[in-house]
Formats: sequence, structure tokens, C-alpha cells
Amino acid sequence: MPKLTQADLIDLNQTFEARSPQELLAWSKEVFGDKLAAISAMQQAGCVVCHMISTAKLNIPVLFVDTGVMFQETLDTRDRIIKEYGVDIITLQPKLTMAEQTAKHGILYLTVEGQKECCHMRKVEPMNEVAGQYHAFIGSLRRGEGGKRSLCPVLQVDTENSTIRINPLAMMTDEQMDAYVAEHNVILNPLHQQGYPTVGCNRCTTPVMPNEPKRAGRWRHLGPWAVYCGINPADREAGAKQVIDLPQDVIDRLLGRETDFAI
Ligand code: SF4
Repeated sequence: MPKLTQADLIDLNQTFEARSPQELLAWSKEVFGDKLAAISAMQQAGCVVCHMISTAKLNIPVLFVDTGVMFQETLDTRDRIIKEYGVDIITLQPKLTMAEQTAKHGILYLTVEGQKECCHMRKVEPMNEVAGQYHAFIGSLRRGEGGKRSLCPVLQVDTENSTIRINPLAMMTDEQMDAYVAEHNVILNPLHQQGYPTVGCNRCTTPVMPNEPKRAGRWRHLGPWAVYCGINPADREAGAKQVIDLPQDVIDRLLGRETDFAI
């Protein structure tokens, strides 16, 4: 299978720095067609992506990983987006229920090592199960989130499941995000109005104090060393030598070798 490295994407990423999220979404659909899906945890940025997909009638399915311990507000947000935006949201689930996992492995999320195992089984594995059906996933990371995400490129190779990760909101600032949400009255997870700037599983998410970092409520019980679940390549790896396998015709379209489509 032909190889693609992060270094191969440097020129394209530079070109994309000046593109709008909507332009990048349209380009993604043009290049990857039916081998493209978005990923959303029903947080603010993911809801904005769903709204943009719906508004532009791009017909891109959205994958939502239901770990079995989500807040009801998160599930309700998913259901509202399906109903009101007409977005095709595909819910993925882990093999074991949380009760079955706990009976087999104990309460994993209470330790640093256990959290990695739990997130892998409940978030990463469900994605791995379907990854072979796709060549690219649209994420919703923004550089404005800080931390490892402050440098996230628009296009990134995802070595976990040999796909391209597209972050069309990478350059969107907090102010631009708030303006988009207000202008379009985007459906949002109501927990954002209840002290939760970010929302994950109910076992591992708390509200944050006004003077705390936005992600302080994620895995608070484990301390600052466990702040990501591993589902996003920008959170777990970096470097120009990262490499994935992709069909040659997909690489050619991606790098603009066999298409006259340009943005
Ligand atoms: S966020 Fe917590 S409960 Fe959810 S999968 Fe990760 S460790 Fe498990």
C-alpha cells in the first residue's frame, strides 16, 4: 500500500492556512467522497461542524462514540442535531458495557494507567472498528484550545487507524466561534452553560472554576498528567515522519495530482 507522511502535507497545510472552515469541508467532501466522516462528541466545536455540514448540504455522516457513561444532556444534544439539522449521526459503542468492563477489569478510570486503558477500550477501539471504511475523518480541534492542540495542522496523518484527520476549525478563534454560534443559534450541549467548558464521560468530567483552564474539569481526579483520551492524533503524536497507508488514487487526489478541483 502506498505511503503518505506528514511531511507530504506541508505545502497543502500552508495553502489551507488562509481557508475558511466551510471551504475546507467542501474540499474534504470533494476529495474523499463517501470515504469521509466527521467525529463529534457533541461539544461546542463538534456542534458547529454539524451545523456547517447541514447548512452546506454536504451529506457527511458524523460518528459519535457513546461510551455508555455519557451525560444525558450530551445524548439529548445528539438527538436534537439529528432531528433539527437532519445530520446522519452514527453512534458507535464499545464492546463491553461499563458494568461488564468493571466486573472484568475493575474501576479503571480511577488510576492514570487505568484511564488510558479505559479510554482505549471505550473511545479508541470503537473508532478503530469502523476506521477501515474511511480514508479521512473531520475533527473539531482548534489551536485556541491551547496545549498540544495549539499547533494542530489542518491536515494530519492519523497513524492509529491509517486515515487523514482534517481540522477545519483549526484557525477559528474563541471570538469567531462564539460569533458563529450566536449568528446561527447553533444547538449546543446545555452543560456548557452549567460550568462545563468541555464535556466528556460523566465519570471523568466536572465543572471548572472561573479562573481554571478550560480542560481542568477533565480527569480532575487524576491530576494534570491525564488530560486527553487519545482519540485525536494531535493529542498523542507529532512529527513529519508520521506515516500512514492510503490507496494511490486517494493520495493523488489529496495532493492535487489528479483533480482540477481547487479552493
Ligand atoms: S473518559 Fe473516563 S470513563 Fe470515559 S472512557 Fe475515558 S477513562 Fe473511561
